[in-house]
Amino acid sequence: MQFPAQERFAAGAQFIAGRLTQGTSGATHAVIDPATGTEAYTYELAGTDDVDAAVAAAREAFPGWSGATPGERSDALHRFAAVLADHADELARAESLQCGKPLKLTREFDVPGTIDNTAFFAGAARHLQGQSAGEYSGDHTSYVRREPIGVVGSIAPWNYPLQMAAWKILPAIAAGNTIVLKPAELTPLTSLLFAEAATEAGIPDGVVNIVTGAGRVAGEHLVGHPDVAMTSFTGSTAVGKRVAEIATATVKRLHLELGGKAPFVVFDDADVEAAANGAVAGALINTGQDCTAATRAYVQRPLYEEFVERTAALMETVRLGDPFAPGTDLGPLISHAQRDRVAAFVDRARSYARVVTGGDVPGGDLAKGAYYLPTLVVDAPQGSEIVQSEIFGPVLVVLPFETDEEGIRLANDTPYGLAASAWSRDVYRANRATREIKAGCVWINDHIPIISEMPHGGYKQSGFGKDMSAYSFEEYTQIKHVMFDNTAVIRKNWHRTVFGDR
Ligand code: NAD
Repeated sequence: MQFPAQERFAAGAQFIAGRLTQGTSGATHAVIDPATGTEAYTYELAGTDDVDAAVAAAREAFPGWSGATPGERSDALHRFAAVLADHADELARAESLQCGKPLKLTREFDVPGTIDNTAFFAGAARHLQGQSAGEYSGDHTSYVRREPIGVVGSIAPWNYPLQMAAWKILPAIAAGNTIVLKPAELTPLTSLLFAEAATEAGIPDGVVNIVTGAGRVAGEHLVGHPDVAMTSFTGSTAVGKRVAEIATATVKRLHLELGGKAPFVVFDDADVEAAANGAVAGALINTGQDCTAATRAYVQRPLYEEFVERTAALMETVRLGDPFAPGTDLGPLISHAQRDRVAAFVDRARSYARVVTGGDVPGGDLAKGAYYLPTLVVDAPQGSEIVQSEIFGPVLVVLPFETDEEGIRLANDTPYGLAASAWSRDVYRANRATREIKAGCVWINDHIPIISEMPHGGYKQSGFGKDMSAYSFEEYTQIKHVMFDNTAVIRKNWHRTVFGDR
């Protein structure tokens, strides 16, 4: 066992008011190691009472935390980043165990990214700004106060559990809110470690609370809770729609980060070798379970054949294996159910498209895990399921296009709009793509990198609102207009509209 989850969370898997407690739903959930299919950790799921207790703790902590100075919150977040750095190895191992991510990915991406995010928000906490004050009416001084919203209820998916916890918790608390986060049932471990680290750093009890429960039970209760002022949800578009419906009943502030089906557009002047490498890395990172993963490559006709050949050959060099082994490039999918879902997409596509490489589960030592071979599909029509639906696995579809207009039109032709890339050495073509592709992020000659200073969020049915960066404060704060009368007169000028000239 690479991370002793059962011993680590012996006191329970709910983190409420600064301590671990047992969930009271009466139901348990087994976290399965997806690399081996064996049980790694069993925990008691949160019930609605646990959600109520967590919301009450967050509510109680709110006056103190929102009343702290930006400098005090910033100091606490700096200490938080240092504690996370001390626990980096433990965090990486826990994340690799519950997700099946190769240790090199968790060590080089998930954990350092989370620490950097924490350090970023430690700085950003001191830069919450409103507009300047002024005498806009002539008779008053107006200014804007930027204030926290209250208790935030957040729900996260299983694909990057640690980073998703960080993306939800950090801007919320940096802005002075308190939070209750519900991670996905499959992946509770690193959210709990993250919250424990917050406490170790001296962030007051109740500011960060974690309820690990079922979406339909704990999730829906949290979204509908009258004492929760805002819902921030990252997950599938289908569940996001349900969450939006529930949140509407109490008119909550809503932030939705939903699914994606990122296009990867290769113009005929692109460096085809760079594009093929970028497509394979962009499609396979985190075993394709990435909302921004390259999923649909559109390649201009002159480069199409060479791109397909190179991409297939590169995919075959990627080494599947034990997430904890140093030579492993790609781990399993999150679960056997997810592996079967991905396999079913590819199997259905065989009736209308061609599988160039992959399209199968590996044998040998890997047969017990939730592994699936890197898969390249061609000849699929634009309107087909494999081109239009989010698969969330190591599957790339490649389609040809003729004119630049057609390439961009096809790239925009799904309900999603989270991320996209365009590949070209012509600055005018590349710049046009950044304007015309409808997505929250467009990369030029790369695909995947993110950075704490820059926003992440969707267009279209990929949602609205931003994670990371100073832009995320727009979600987690509300602005108040304050207006001071400067005249000190009893009958103001505007009172004529009520009293006439009397
Ligand atoms: P999911 O929608 O099934 O679940 C997400 C979370 O919602 C989980 O915590 C789950 O327990 C909870 N949930 C489920 N039903 C619920 C309900 N009725 N009420 C309240 N909560 C409920 O998504 P997933 O399978 O965990 O994650 C994969 C999805 O997440 C993909 O669609 C992916 O694109 C998306 N995602 C998006 C981003 C982004 O930034 N836009 C980032 C990561 C993942």
